[in-house]
Amino acid sequence: MATIGVIPGDGVGPEVIREAVAILEDLGAARGLGLDFAPVDLGSDRYLRTGEVLPESVQQELSRCDAILLGAIGDPRVPPGVLEKGLLLRLRFDFQQYINLRPVQLFPGVETPIKGKGPEQIDLVVVRENNEDLYVGAGGFTRKGTPEEVAIQTSINTRAGVERCLRYAFDLAGRRAQARVFPGLSDADRAAGKRGLVSLVAKTNVLTFAHDLWDRAFREVAADYPAIKTDYHHVDACCMRLVVSPERYDVIVTTNMFGDIITDLGAVLQGGMGVAASGNLNPERTYPSMFEPVHGSAPDIAGTGKANPIAAILSIGLLLDHLGSPDAAADVRSAVARVLADPGAPKTPDLGGTATTSEVGRAVREAIAAK
Ligand code: ATP
Ligand code: MG
Repeated sequence: MATIGVIPGDGVGPEVIREAVAILEDLGAARGLGLDFAPVDLGSDRYLRTGEVLPESVQQELSRCDAILLGAIGDPRVPPGVLEKGLLLRLRFDFQQYINLRPVQLFPGVETPIKGKGPEQIDLVVVRENNEDLYVGAGGFTRKGTPEEVAIQTSINTRAGVERCLRYAFDLAGRRAQARVFPGLSDADRAAGKRGLVSLVAKTNVLTFAHDLWDRAFREVAADYPAIKTDYHHVDACCMRLVVSPERYDVIVTTNMFGDIITDLGAVLQGGMGVAASGNLNPERTYPSMFEPVHGSAPDIAGTGKANPIAAILSIGLLLDHLGSPDAAADVRSAVARVLADPGAPKTPDLGGTATTSEVGRAVREAIAAK
């Protein structure tokens, strides 16, 4: 029995989460997964109505869940930072979701803007450290508002925090080398040794304290994984290579700030915000992990039925993996792959189609049932 806390949130969040939950309900019933759902009212509406961002009682309720499914948080009427810091970052930090997992995979049938690249070339995972670095909110101002003002934002990197993130990345690379953790990896690719590589992405030549720690920890952890290859890329060079030769990456491990940036680039490689999924993981399952599409509340298309639910649906694939149902997770991904590859299947406008959110959701449900 597993309880999923569901935060539909703002904008397109409730629209895409409805489709994801419908799939989880179907799968749960068909496979006897014993899932039950606890709807949680958080986000801009609650904040604008009551001034509450994350009440203690709601935090308690979420802490009792096995996993959290989040739509999107954000509203132009709420000042920037209030919900990001008070809600999203608090859940990530308080529940020690120290891994932000972002598969970047191009499914057949989806177009990438990178000329000459296809599904064979774009299949990597970014492991972003999710609890430290510039995101901890350390720093301050001196002489604020004066011409002499200095603003300091401190990047905090602990040995333990860096090392647990690195170990997750190496373990993941090992699993990817062994199995089809993510579809799209052909036997030929595996034989050609395109798997089992962890790339550290940092800026050791400039961030000479923080990334010196990352670099040393990386070498030490790598020594424990002799079967995994390693390399290192400065973050700027990585951005270039992700566009020019994404096929050279398997698992990228990086800091919170750099991971934030390169995963948006990754989302574009794989066909856009409509198809990019993520998990905020507490791998030990001491606390609930949280799964969400990478996109935000997309106020420009909210309420129009144009939101692509695939990103949210792929996020439940990650959720099922995390809860120990890899077969159900694989079924979700293969159903998504079949819908995307079928020129006659419904697609939302971001993928060049004219279908609605719920039509795409229904197509995926039918593909799972038809398996
Ligand atoms: P936030 O601050 O909440 O991250 P944002 O301004 O970064 O929001 P997103 O909500 O991520 O914006 O949306 C960026 C663009 O991608 C918008 O133009 C939006 O319409 C589009 N987009 C986002 N999500 C989807 C989706 N599920 N389907 C189709 N298009 C989407
Ligand atoms: Mg955004």
